[in-house]
Amino acid sequence: MIRFASLGSGSKGNATLIEVGKTRILLDCGFSVKETERRLQRLGCEASSLSAVVVTHEHGDHINGVGRLSRKHKLPVWLTHGTCIAARDSDFVQTHFIEPDTAFEIGSIHLQPFRVPHDAREPCQFVFSDGSFRLGVLSDLGHATPHVLSNLTSLDALMLECNYDYDMLMQGAYPYSLKQRVSGGLGHLDNLQSEAILKKIDLSKMQHLLGGHVSEKNNSPTYAQEALYRGADCESEWVSMACQEEGFSWREIS
Ligand SMILES: [Zn+2]
Ligand SMILES: [Zn+2]
Repeated sequence: MIRFASLGSGSKGNATLIEVGKTRILLDCGFSVKETERRLQRLGCEASSLSAVVVTHEHGDHINGVGRLSRKHKLPVWLTHGTCIAARDSDFVQTHFIEPDTAFEIGSIHLQPFRVPHDAREPCQFVFSDGSFRLGVLSDLGHATPHVLSNLTSLDALMLECNYDYDMLMQGAYPYSLKQRVSGGLGHLDNLQSEAILKKIDLSKMQHLLGGHVSEKNNSPTYAQEALYRGADCESEWVSMACQEEGFSWREIS
């Protein structure tokens, strides 16, 4: 059985909790230590009970809290060399380097990192497994490559970026250069791209589909959720959204 929950998801901070047996991994931590502790407590967790922090890439909304959290609670950190080099604070109590596309284990959790096209030094996203079930987390990428899609086959659960609505971004207040960055091949996924990904992967085993990293300025949670409904070809309660303040509560894959 895998349990997972979100502490919050969006450009102001991301952190996802994944638990198998006694192993608890925090994927990314874009919140301050105090805020992380508060959000963990909401989910019934103490920060000191975490087994590790795994980092996808060096953007602040994913890494800002990692150094301080690692030092305060003596937590080992897993990340790529590129992410570590590019990180402003890489003074972790213990550092483990990830090779993208090379699987590894932390306690009872099997992790498959895979490369994604995003404007960071060496970003990767992950599939987590307990040996029976597979949870994919896919965020912060400009487009889905065949390599990305091949990692998402037959998942039991998926958290998928739905960053922006194309028209809202283009008509919104962002400067032109930022609009180009967000919508470019190394930026973020819009609702239609996420919908297209869902139509390309096998969803027959999917128990939970969650939309995440929804832009507060350039998207509406309703648009994003509708895109997921279309992609999954159904409007069911197993399709829902992660938000910036609340994330989402524990989901169980069994
Ligand atoms: Zn991000
Ligand atoms: Zn990013």
